Amino acid sequence: MLKAASDRYPDLRDAVRALCSQFPDEYHRKLDEQRAYPESFVDALTRAGWLAAMIPSEYGGSGLGLAEASVIMEEINRSGGNSGACHGQMYNIGTLLRHGSPEQKRHFLPKIASGEWRLQSMGVTEPATGTDTTKIRTTAVRKGDRYVVNGQKVWISRVQHSDWMILLARTTPIAEVSKKSEGMSIFMVDLGQAVKAGLTVRPIANMVNHETNELFFDNLEIPAENLIGQEGRGFRYILDGLNAERTLIAAECVGDGYWFIDRVTRYATERVVFDRPIGQNQGVQFPIAECYIEVEAANLMRWRACELFDAGEPCGAQANMAKYLAAKASWEAANACIQFHGGYGFAHEYDIERKFRETRLYQVAPVSTNLILSYVAEHVLGLPRSF
Ligand SMILES: Cc1cc2nc3c(=O)[nH]c(=O)nc-3n(C[C@H](O)[C@H](O)[C@H](O)COP(=O)(O)OP(=O)(O)OC[C@H]3O[C@@H](n4cnc5c(N)ncnc54)[C@H](O)[C@@H]3O)c2cc1C
Repeated sequence: MLKAASDRYPDLRDAVRALCSQFPDEYHRKLDEQRAYPESFVDALTRAGWLAAMIPSEYGGSGLGLAEASVIMEEINRSGGNSGACHGQMYNIGTLLRHGSPEQKRHFLPKIASGEWRLQSMGVTEPATGTDTTKIRTTAVRKGDRYVVNGQKVWISRVQHSDWMILLARTTPIAEVSKKSEGMSIFMVDLGQAVKAGLTVRPIANMVNHETNELFFDNLEIPAENLIGQEGRGFRYILDGLNAERTLIAAECVGDGYWFIDRVTRYATERVVFDRPIGQNQGVQFPIAECYIEVEAANLMRWRACELFDAGEPCGAQANMAKYLAAKASWEAANACIQFHGGYGFAHEYDIERKFRETRLYQVAPVSTNLILSYVAEHVLGLPRSF
C-alpha cells in the first residue's frame, strides 16, 4: 500500500485495516451490483467498537477524538470500501453529546455504543428548498406531550438501516421569528415506530450503492421528550455538527485519493505498451504525481481541522477547506486512475469505475463545493453576503 507522508495513528490504522481486509474488493463489488447494504461489514465495524469511537467511555464508547474517528473513515475508503454506509453515526453522536440532556445521553448512548441501536440518519434536506435550509417546510407542532410532524424530506440516507434519525423541522413559522435561522428544532425519531405511524419511506435509485430516500411525514407523532436541546435552536445545533461531518468526509476523500493513486501507480508500473511501462512516460507520470501532491496537501488541512476541533477551537474554515480540497483531490485522482487504466478502468472487476462514481458525490453532498466557496468568501474573507 502507498505510504502517505502524513500518516498518523499507525496502530489504529493497522487495526482498522485488519478488519477491512476481511472485506475485499469482491465483497464491495458484489454489493454494488446488487445495490445492497454492506450489513456484515457494518456489523463487524460495530462489534469492533469503531462506530462508537467518539462516544465517551462512561457511556460504553472509546472516548476518542475526531482525529481518530477520521482515521477509521479514511481507512475504510482506503481499503476499497465506502464509509457512506456508516459515517452518519459518527457525526450524529456528536449532536446528541453536545446538545442532548443527561437523560437522553444515558438513554441512547450506551445502546448505540453496544450496537443495539444505530443512529445513522439525519433528515435535513427538502425537495423544495434544497441548500436554503432555513426555508424548510416540514413542521413539528406541539400538542400536549407530543409534537406532530408533517412535511417531506429528500436524500435522507441509511433510514432503512438505522433505528433512529435526527430530524430537523420548523417549530415556529418563519414569519414569526426575528432571524430565519431561529424557530427550527431537532428531534430523535424512532424509525421503527415512525414507519407504522405516519412516516413513508421511498428509496431513491441513484448512481452509487447508497441507501437514500424520500420521506413523507403525515401527522407523525413524536414524544416531546425526544426534542434535543431547546426548542427553536435546532438549526444552530445542526450547524455545530457540520464541522465534524465535513472533516470526516475530507478524510474519506483522502482515503479514496490514496486508493486511486495506489492503484494507478501499480498499474502504470506493470502495464507495458510500446515496449515500456506506461508509467515511464511523463505524460502519465506527471498527472499521477500532481494528484499525489494534491491529496497530501488536502490531508494536511484535514489534520488541521481535526486538531482544532479536538481542542474545542473554532474550525469552520478549516473543516470546509479540508472538505473542498479533499473532494477535489480525490476526484482528480479518480480521473487519472480511470484514464491510465485505459479500457480496463471501465471494467467492473477493477473496481475503479465504482470508486470513481462514489467519490464524485462529495463535491455535491453533504455540502456542494459552491457553498464552501461562498462560506470562505463571506465568513473568512469578509466579502458581502450573496444570499
Ligand atoms: C447520495 C446523497 C445522499 C444524501 N444524504 C443526505 C442525508 O442523509 N441527509 C440530508 O439531509 N441530506 C442528504 N443529501 C442531500 C445533500 O446534502 C444535498 O443534495 C446537497 O446539500 C445539495 O442540495 P440540493 O440537492 O437541494 O441542491 P440545490 O440546493 O438545488 O443546489 C444545486 C446546485 O446549485 C448550486 N447552488 C445552489 N445554491 C447556490 C448559491 N447560492 N451559490 C452558488 N451555487 C449554488 C450548487 O452547485 C448546488 O450543487 C444527500 C444527497 C445525496 C446526493
